[in-house]
Amino acid sequence: MKTTNKQILIDQLPSGALRTEHFRIVESAMPEIRDGEVLLRILYIAVDAAMRAWMLGPSYREALKAGEVMAAAALAEVVETRHATFDAGDLVYTDAAGCQEFVALSGEKVRRIERTEPLTHLLSVYGTAGLTAYFGLLDIGQPRAGESVVVSAAAGAVGSLVGQIAKIKGCHVVGIAGGKAKCDLLVNTFGFDAALDYKAGNLYAQLMAATGGGTDVYFDNVGGAVFESALFTMKPHGRLIACGAVSAYDTDPAKGLQSVRGIPAWFISRRLSLRGFIVADFYARRPEALRELRSWVERGQLQVREDIIDGLAELPRALVGLLAGENIGKRMVKVA
Ligand code: NDP
Repeated sequence: MKTTNKQILIDQLPSGALRTEHFRIVESAMPEIRDGEVLLRILYIAVDAAMRAWMLGPSYREALKAGEVMAAAALAEVVETRHATFDAGDLVYTDAAGCQEFVALSGEKVRRIERTEPLTHLLSVYGTAGLTAYFGLLDIGQPRAGESVVVSAAAGAVGSLVGQIAKIKGCHVVGIAGGKAKCDLLVNTFGFDAALDYKAGNLYAQLMAATGGGTDVYFDNVGGAVFESALFTMKPHGRLIACGAVSAYDTDPAKGLQSVRGIPAWFISRRLSLRGFIVADFYARRPEALRELRSWVERGQLQVREDIIDGLAELPRALVGLLAGENIGKRMVKVA
C-alpha cells in the first residue's frame, strides 16, 4: 500500500492569466479515515473551466485560497470505508475530490455510481457536462422544432452536447467556436447547421446570416463580447441561457466584470428572458436526463468527444490549455 499522496496545490492565486507556475506539486502523507468517512483512489479528474472561476472569489462554492489543494470533481474508487453504505471497490463521483491521488471524505460528499463503458463517459455525457447541456437547453431554453439555437464554446464539453441535442429536437443550430478546425468539426462531425469563428470578427453579422435573421435560443457559455453579439440577434420572445462566462474567468476579477449598459431596453422591447442556473438545481431529475442521454448515445444521435490527458502532474497544463481553447469535448486527467 502506498504511504504518500501526490497533490496539486494552487500555490498562488493569479491576478491575470493563469499559468502553470501558479501550481505546486507536493507529496503528503496518505490520508487516514475516521468514522463516517471513505478513502478514495482518484481515477479521473474533470478539468472544468469553472476551476478558474473559483479562484476569483466566492460563488456557488467557497473561493479557493492560496496553498490549498486545487479543487476539482472526480471519478474515484473506494479503497477503504468506515461508512455503512459504501464497500471497498465501489465506483463513486464527488465534487470534493481535489487534484490528488487519494482523498478521505465524509460519505455524505460522495455518490455511488454504476459502472459504464467507457468509464470516462461518467465525467462527460453522463456527468456534469451532459446534465448541464440537457437541463440548461431543454428546461430553460425550451427550444421548439424549427427555431434557431445558438451556442458558444460550441466545441467544448457542454457546448458540443447542447448543439447536438438541439438538432435532435429539430432546431436550426449555429455553433460559435475559436478557429476554423473547430468550426469544421462542428458541422462535419457534430451535425451543426453552421459554425462561426468568433476570432474572425464581425460576429453579429455572421450570426444574423447563419441564423437566417435572428436567434430564438442562445446558450451562453462565455459571456463578454460573444454574449453581446448574440444578444442583439435575439428575436422577440427569445430565451437566453446563462450557463457560464469563461471569457471573464481568466482575468483580474476587477476587469472581468462586463458592462450591462444599454441591455435593459433591449430586453423590454424584445420581451426576452435571461435565466441563469447551476446544474445542481436539477439533480433530483438526474435519472430522467441520464435515460434520455443514454438512448441518444446508443442510437448514435449524440457523438461524445473526450480529451484525456495522462498523469496528475499534467493537470496545471491541462487547465491552462483548456482556458486557451486547446480542448475538443470534455477534458479530463487520468490519475490512476
Ligand atoms: P469547455 O470544454 O467548453 O472549455 C472551455 C472553452 O471555452 C475552451 O475550449 C474555449 O474554446 C472557450 N473559451 C475560452 N476563452 C474564451 C473566450 N474568451 N471567449 C470565448 N470562448 C472562450 O468547458 P466546459 O464545457 O467545462 O464549460 C463550458 C461553460 O459551461 C463554462 O463557462 C462553465 O463554467 C459552464 N458550466 C456551467 C455549469 C452550470 O451549472 N451553470 C456546469 C458546468 C459548466 P474556443 O476555442 O472556442 O475559444
